[in-house]
Amino acid sequence: MTETVEILAVGAHPDDVELGCGGTLALLARAGRSVGILDLTRGEAGTRGTPETRAAEAAEAARLIGARFRDGLDLGDGNLRTDRAAELEVIEVVRRRRPRLVFAPLPNDRHPDHVRAGRLVADAAFYAGLRALETGLPPHRPQQVVYFPSTFLAEPTFLVDVTETLEVKLAAVRAFRSQFFDPASEEPSTFISSPEFLDGVTARARAFGRLANVGAAEGFVSPRPPLLSDPLAAFDGFEKGF
Ligand SMILES: [Zn+2]
Repeated sequence: MTETVEILAVGAHPDDVELGCGGTLALLARAGRSVGILDLTRGEAGTRGTPETRAAEAAEAARLIGARFRDGLDLGDGNLRTDRAAELEVIEVVRRRRPRLVFAPLPNDRHPDHVRAGRLVADAAFYAGLRALETGLPPHRPQQVVYFPSTFLAEPTFLVDVTETLEVKLAAVRAFRSQFFDPASEEPSTFISSPEFLDGVTARARAFGRLANVGAAEGFVSPRPPLLSDPLAAFDGFEKGF
């Protein structure tokens, strides 16, 4: 029997989820929500490290976040496939894991794999609910696919206070030792391996946090605005940041 989850976070590459929504996932897991991760590729096109080192790093990052599992597909790092066969692979995971909420890369980004991944996941999440599509598993449609921005800035539809889990997020990101700043590494430097990149991850979380007068936040883009049950609580403390 496959374990189902309430929240499934999907990335194009191992480390996308940690960078985009690692603090939120850690927060949800610590609150008792079930969280799973799906990587659409093995990250084999990365300049540094190997798929094997990245798999070990990804497992450690998932453990730090508190994810119940980390599934992986092999849709092609650096040329992410989005054909019907690829879509059916994602539909299969959605029907097996039955998430209520899905996080995916914002389909407006520097990396084309992130753009493709965001569209692929949103399409697959919808089609997974079609009764007429028979795959041997019952249909399932998540409530919503919510996007996390990667490199490009985007106006967030909502923020999640990750003050309590920012350090967990950063530890999960740093678990990808081969990818990020390591003064001892002799591998070629890349866009993400500079010390400034990790500073930027923290700076963005702090900047989003300032908008809500909390220590740190992650910003998300949702095609539909979330429904608040208590608007008063949602703006708690904002007046101190005026
Ligand atoms: Zn990526």
